[in-house]
Amino acid sequence: MASTRIGGVEVARIEEMLTPGFDPAFLFPGFSAALLDEFPELRNPNFFHAETGKVMSSMHSWLLRIGDDVVLIDTGCGNHKHRSAKAFQRFHMLDLPFLDRLAAAGVRPEDVTYVINTHLHVDHVGWNTALVDGAWVPTFPRARYVFGAREYANWTKDGRSLRAQPEGGEVIEDSVRPVVEAGLVDLVEPGDRLLDVLTFTHAPGHTDGQLNIRLECDGAVGLFTADVLHQPMQIVCPELNTRFCEDNERAPSTRKALLGLAAEANAVIFPQHFGAPHAGRVANTRGGYRFEPITWTN
Ligand SMILES: [Zn+2]
Repeated sequence: MASTRIGGVEVARIEEMLTPGFDPAFLFPGFSAALLDEFPELRNPNFFHAETGKVMSSMHSWLLRIGDDVVLIDTGCGNHKHRSAKAFQRFHMLDLPFLDRLAAAGVRPEDVTYVINTHLHVDHVGWNTALVDGAWVPTFPRARYVFGAREYANWTKDGRSLRAQPEGGEVIEDSVRPVVEAGLVDLVEPGDRLLDVLTFTHAPGHTDGQLNIRLECDGAVGLFTADVLHQPMQIVCPELNTRFCEDNERAPSTRKALLGLAAEANAVIFPQHFGAPHAGRVANTRGGYRFEPITWTN
């Protein structure tokens, strides 16, 4: 299993799917094709699928082994989930071997001790639950499920995220409510820590309550950046917001702060949707930033 280390913590990626995603002009309303000419590295086939003109889009969980704990960060789209919104078509009624891939990494569902959802969008909470005898049950029965308190509040009753994206209501029903009702959820605040090496930070913009997670161990830093960054093109052009961002004013400032932090700390960033190799460092360039993909160890 390919992995990398941040100090004493092993980080691996469990793939759910890796396919051409959206047309960049759809995903990023501010996109201009001139960007691909200015930064030819963005045409790397790992990031851009020339035949369809779409960006490559990965759905995955990050798997962390921290001492005896097994932590999953975000849980993809999930199987057998009915998704009625047109923008959610790629996530509708999937049947993918995600749990087999987790097993190949040596992890059974009952081994997972923490599931962290950076935010409660359709492609980040799916494997929280699985369909068993017609009911949605927690996939990871012994795990504590961790979300931001603000994020959760925004998706309940007439919260601002639910108002901004009403099609997320069915996601909350099948992938969030069952773990809440099972008593498995811990709500956290920015600044809270977990297992000594993880710190939650507030990363508003894409959703108002989105969290990032800073992993710091033995002087090394990893940043789990959720959807502050969807694509490498947002590293060279941090002004680009997706059409799914709730707050177009705050998203770029959160992104720029993250890029500055990553460059300064020489951190490995672990986004949720980048094409292979899916993670890397952020280097300063004159007037901006460049993405430096990591090499995984087998
Ligand atoms: Zn996402």
